[in-house]
Amino acid sequence: MNKLVLKPGREKSLKRRHPWVFSGAVATLTGNLAPGETVEIHSGGGEFLGVAACNPNSNIVARVWDWHKREIDAAFFRARIERAVALRAHLLPSIDSVRLVHAESDGLPGVVIDRYGDTVVMQLSSAGAMRWRDAIADAVVQVVKPKTIYERSDADVLALEGLTPSVGVLHGALPPSPMLVKESGVAFEVDVPQGHKTGFYLDQRSNRARVRALSAEREVLDCFAYSGGFTVNALAGGAAGVTAIDSSGPALELLKRNVALNQLPACDAIEGDVFQLLRKLRDQARSFDLIVLDPPKFAPTAAHAEKASRAYKDINLLAFKLLRPGGLLFTFSCSGGVSRDLFQKIVAGAALDAGVDAHIVEHLSAGADHPVALSFPEGEYLKGVACRVAG
Ligand code: SAH
Repeated sequence: MNKLVLKPGREKSLKRRHPWVFSGAVATLTGNLAPGETVEIHSGGGEFLGVAACNPNSNIVARVWDWHKREIDAAFFRARIERAVALRAHLLPSIDSVRLVHAESDGLPGVVIDRYGDTVVMQLSSAGAMRWRDAIADAVVQVVKPKTIYERSDADVLALEGLTPSVGVLHGALPPSPMLVKESGVAFEVDVPQGHKTGFYLDQRSNRARVRALSAEREVLDCFAYSGGFTVNALAGGAAGVTAIDSSGPALELLKRNVALNQLPACDAIEGDVFQLLRKLRDQARSFDLIVLDPPKFAPTAAHAEKASRAYKDINLLAFKLLRPGGLLFTFSCSGGVSRDLFQKIVAGAALDAGVDAHIVEHLSAGADHPVALSFPEGEYLKGVACRVAG
């Protein structure tokens, strides 16, 4: 039996059902320790704590599959995927693009599974997930019955795990190209093989709907616009005009196609760096009624939090300066290393330095298809606030 024994007193977080074991907590690790193999975890006192996938090459040496003694096999993955799909059953009739499995929060560390219509995209980012790739794909075929399963295991975190990227069709034919999905009545082209993450930022669905509801007759600035999730919704909500900024030319091409696809009026798409362009807009004395700031992850871990805080403060301060009285700021952080509390403090500091009075009018997070296990607060990586500047 493969066995991981913790140093004395290091079992506390596991007893709270947090599924990670860090290398510093390990006393001994014995048996067949190929990355992804199943190990039993025991406390220093010999108490059984859980069954996990090991990865001696990662700082996270083990990720727990289950808190009870059990075989990890095809039936385990099928049961977990059935459970995750059942949890979302109430969402499925109204949306065709949805996150079906949200990794640790669904009891499947390192496994993200998104569905876009008949196409399922799997993103694996742990040794255990990769070890069980075929079993996971088989379970998806049985439970979800998609036409295609496409693997996009190419996230940056793979390097930290010592894993090699793996991309391509696992089941069925290539995803349709272009592939169209519908979200709250608007259509988007999603680029599964080349796009970011699994092709689309599903986590912002409910926040895009909020922006749409509040855009009528407003002049909107969409920063870090990618393929136009917020831009298309703002235009569909009757915005007076939208300026979209992204540093990626291909993303802006997709954004323009998505605007046209919905027969909406053209927007002003600017390719460039948000940090520089916000300054330029300020120098031109431009102003807006609604601004979205949805930057990429500035702080993947807490170690990057300080530098990330300065970057968040910078763009939020500039955005507050560009808002007209009564204007709205939808501002987000998807950094695991920045807590909701810290993010709110950063935004408050930005408003203060910009010399504006503002209120939080809504707290924002990922949608119901991204549940957060109470024992795994890291699952709540996306946090945002909508602020209204005094009129
Ligand atoms: N709001 C989007 C998702 C944004 S993802 C949606 O709802 O779908 C973050 C985007 O920021 C990516 O498209 C990336 O190309 C862009 N980006 C990253 N750094 C940037 C920078 N400094 N300036 C402008 N865009 C940047």
